[in-house]
Amino acid sequence: MLQFEDSFAPPPGNLAPPRAMPLPTELAPSHNMAGTVDAVARRVRVEDKQVINGTADLNQLVPFKYKWAWEKYLAGCANHWMPQEVNMSRDIALWKTPGGLTDDERLVVKRNLGFFVTADSLAANNIVLGTYRHITAPECRQYLLRQAFEEAIHTHAYQYIVESLGLDEGEIFNAYHEVSSIREKDQFLIPFIETLTDPGFRTGTPENDQKLLKSLIVFSCIMEGLFFYVGFVQILALGRQNKMTGAAEQYQYILRDESMHCSFGIDLVNTIKMENPHLWTSAFRDEIRVLVQRGVELEYRYAEDTMPRGVLGMNAPMFKEYLRFVANRRCQQIGLDPLYAGASNPFPWMAEMIDLKKEKNFFETRVTEYQVGGTLSWE
Ligand code: FE
Repeated sequence: MLQFEDSFAPPPGNLAPPRAMPLPTELAPSHNMAGTVDAVARRVRVEDKQVINGTADLNQLVPFKYKWAWEKYLAGCANHWMPQEVNMSRDIALWKTPGGLTDDERLVVKRNLGFFVTADSLAANNIVLGTYRHITAPECRQYLLRQAFEEAIHTHAYQYIVESLGLDEGEIFNAYHEVSSIREKDQFLIPFIETLTDPGFRTGTPENDQKLLKSLIVFSCIMEGLFFYVGFVQILALGRQNKMTGAAEQYQYILRDESMHCSFGIDLVNTIKMENPHLWTSAFRDEIRVLVQRGVELEYRYAEDTMPRGVLGMNAPMFKEYLRFVANRRCQQIGLDPLYAGASNPFPWMAEMIDLKKEKNFFETRVTEYQVGGTLSWE
């Protein structure tokens, strides 16, 4: 049985908040002992900023050094959406109609939610209690704050689908304990989350900086970049057949958000590599390759478990090829050679899903343009 709560608890007797950096540097580097501003000596310079182990004032977003992170923050905000805006009435009617979906299609939906209802909480905890503390670029922290809220929206979306369909909450929310193909994926992730959320963990040595880098790679490339993809393909395939279109529309927005999380994580990893080339040793690269291979195996097991027979014109072996294709891409994105020669994409339509534009509504269940403030009345 997994003990997720314990993973994030401080050790007994240690009530001090976990910290990545010494207090004076983080909170008030531009103030002297008397509390007045030492403006001349302490102004932040772009060249002082570092993604990890930086010493510049973390409260000063500008001057920008990592413009890519700021731009992703703006793009994330522009993609804002909320689950309750999506109409679920067609899904509810179909779900409640005997024979509306096959047993295999129902299994896909339930297993899918079983993984995702807790996955985004894991991701949120990993960001808020782990990653955020160790990243010393304010532009990157700004994106992580946006990302953390998006993880909350995703958990909200899954809860909204579970509630709309009247599913057994206990069954779905406990799937990560009770369904082995889901539990194994989470068990693979937990040690990497624990590294970052350990209150005693500090960056600043090559060994610990490699641990941080490894956890960041596992999260962006394997969790958000691989473990989500069988589930995304399955629900979007249902939507393409005009089934569960409300759920599919929400998954489409989630996929768009997650591909941004993955891409931010990869930029973060590559920037850390560039700033700390000594971390990217050949032994370290070998370790990452083994982890990616393990991730592919675990996700393939999940594909087999969720699709014991062919369903929706898909079957588990198609996912073996797809996962290898995606894993190759993740490797290339962080500068590793592809692991699986010649792997191709059996689901080319997924590219269109990822590139969803706000004004486009694939499933035509609602008007999708998000009105930021446009529907508010200030009278
Ligand atoms: Fe995410």
